[in-house]
Amino acid sequence: MKRLNLGVVAHVDAGKTSLTERLLFDTGALDAIGSVDAGSTRTDSLALERERGITIRSAVASFVIGDVGVNLLDTPGHPDFIAEVERVLGVLDGAVLVVSAVEGVQPQTLVLMRALRRLRVPTLIFVNKIDRGGARADAVLAGIADRLTPRIVAMGSVTGLGSREAGFRPYGQGDHAFTARLLDLLSSDDDALVAAYLQDEAAVTHEQLLHSLAGRTRRGQAHPVFFGSAITGAGVPELLAGIARLLPPADDHADGPLSGTVFKIERGRAGEKLAYVRLFSGSLGVRDRVELRGRREKVTGVGVFTSAGVEPRGCAVAGEIAQLRGLSSARIGDPIGLPAPSAGARQFAPPTLETVVEPVDTADKGSLYAALAQLAEQDPLIGLRRDELRGEVSLSLYGEVQKQVISATLEREFAVKACFRQTRVICVERLVGSGAAVEFIDVAPNPFLATVGLRVEPAAVGAGVRYRLEVELGSMPYALMRAIEETVRLTLRQGLYGWEVPDCVVTLTHTGYWPRQSHMHGSFDKSMSSTAGDFRNLTPLVLMQALRQAGTRVCEPVHAFTLEAPTASYGAVLPVLGQLGAVPSAPSSHGRTYLLTGVIPAARVHELQQRLPGLTGGEGVLESAFSHYAVVEGFPSRPRTDANPLDRAVYLLHVQRRV
Ligand code: GDP
Repeated sequence: MKRLNLGVVAHVDAGKTSLTERLLFDTGALDAIGSVDAGSTRTDSLALERERGITIRSAVASFVIGDVGVNLLDTPGHPDFIAEVERVLGVLDGAVLVVSAVEGVQPQTLVLMRALRRLRVPTLIFVNKIDRGGARADAVLAGIADRLTPRIVAMGSVTGLGSREAGFRPYGQGDHAFTARLLDLLSSDDDALVAAYLQDEAAVTHEQLLHSLAGRTRRGQAHPVFFGSAITGAGVPELLAGIARLLPPADDHADGPLSGTVFKIERGRAGEKLAYVRLFSGSLGVRDRVELRGRREKVTGVGVFTSAGVEPRGCAVAGEIAQLRGLSSARIGDPIGLPAPSAGARQFAPPTLETVVEPVDTADKGSLYAALAQLAEQDPLIGLRRDELRGEVSLSLYGEVQKQVISATLEREFAVKACFRQTRVICVERLVGSGAAVEFIDVAPNPFLATVGLRVEPAAVGAGVRYRLEVELGSMPYALMRAIEETVRLTLRQGLYGWEVPDCVVTLTHTGYWPRQSHMHGSFDKSMSSTAGDFRNLTPLVLMQALRQAGTRVCEPVHAFTLEAPTASYGAVLPVLGQLGAVPSAPSSHGRTYLLTGVIPAARVHELQQRLPGLTGGEGVLESAFSHYAVVEGFPSRPRTDANPLDRAVYLLHVQRRV
């Protein structure tokens, strides 16, 4: 059986959940149809989602169309989660973009379509709710062509639009306008077909045209449009046929090298980790070992999604979605085996916001941290920072909605009520030049039994922290060497102004220690022997001296934005962009709207987002994503959460108290 991993995406309320239910019901994977409004659908597993009627986290459901087994991967729909949406989009073979026939193209429809095109996911469009009063067909089609992509073709027409009896009539052989539109769309790469048609219309069949259309659709160059209703089921059989016929089945290179991507993590009943993996090539069986972030881990259980649910198997193969047990360090986004074919295109931006999280009831402090740590462990989009000095925990974020979702998850899944302090932007520090420092063992003012010398140098953006040795690895016990490197990496999370130093080269230039020794017949004497603790305590002092010499600059995150709004609002929007520090490019006109691209400090995105509806009569659409870091004036600092190695006296006091 062929396999297809499919995603359904939509602006909230366009009908994604209802359509999912309908697809499962029509293919026999569900006995009864759930209702979003009654809160009984199968894909909305979190109570939170049921309550809000929106689907935030992905889930998998399977059904069969003819000889194609389809895995339906649910995707979140809110802009805060575009990174999360993209993780799921990245493992899909194809997608259905749902557009409401009443509302037409909505802000999130634009964002999703752009992401689908960026990731080259073959996409069909389903215009839903044709049974609803106010439903439009031609106008919505024109809106799709104008705002999403001109490379569309309507696959049929609507009868009884806006009534309960609304239906979808697929075009066929005799529909000349349809044939003309198809030829137009296909002409750029199927010259032979078009030439044959021009010579003799009868020589080219509807089947041949559809075959050619499937080719284009599978390459993401054409987007067939279907109409229907998730509620009445109209148009859904045609959509199902289109899914099987026009979208590309998964490659089934079961003999190839192992390649897969973890796109979801869940906890099983006993709290064990379940990793959802899309396999692109190869196979993976129980007891196989896989390399995960430098560790080899053993698969202890394999489940494969079928229309009956998750089925335990000895082995999962290319094209399938596997639910794996035993991979305790797996995180969302991890490659299994070779990276996915298009993994390079999916570098997720760093979170640019941060907020302090506190339990409403101080007695919950421990459980709050444990719960956040568990969420962060599963999902690299959730970052935690613990401030031991103030006993605070901060959480890095992509947007305000993520905050609400995390808060609700904490309450429901962990029974912890949390509150968030005001959100602030996360800056980074970049080295200006090079610097070096050294402190020797037994030489004042070094109170530790350790010699450490370090040199720091700038590195390219994105290069990460590279750690090098200019001393012999064997010159000191490995545990002491490792203590230095670990401490260097930890210390660089807070540079001179309290922000992380993400990219630099650190070279270990000097080391020295006193070996384990004891008085005659006595036991080990710490006052005469170096320990890893001596190196952990000294390294921050040396590193900070080197950093001071090198100097750092604080850089703030900057987003690239795309703004689409009615032409009449241009005069009102432009000065506000200026006030918010945005730098727009020249506008381009698209009929009654204009499109602006540009950059804006991440710190101001939320404000722009909030002011936009007022400035554009609710019609402005802003899409923004992290672009780069830029030097920020005034070098804002962040309160330190470490013992402050910049202030020797304070630091030593703290360290000694800890000892
Ligand atoms: P989602 O947010 O995209 O998952 O959308 P839902 O499936 O939750 O649907 C949002 C609302 O639209 C619900 O009240 C549905 O009952 C309604 N709805 C969805 N599809 C249709 C449709 O085809 N026709 C009608 N009349 N209502 C629909």
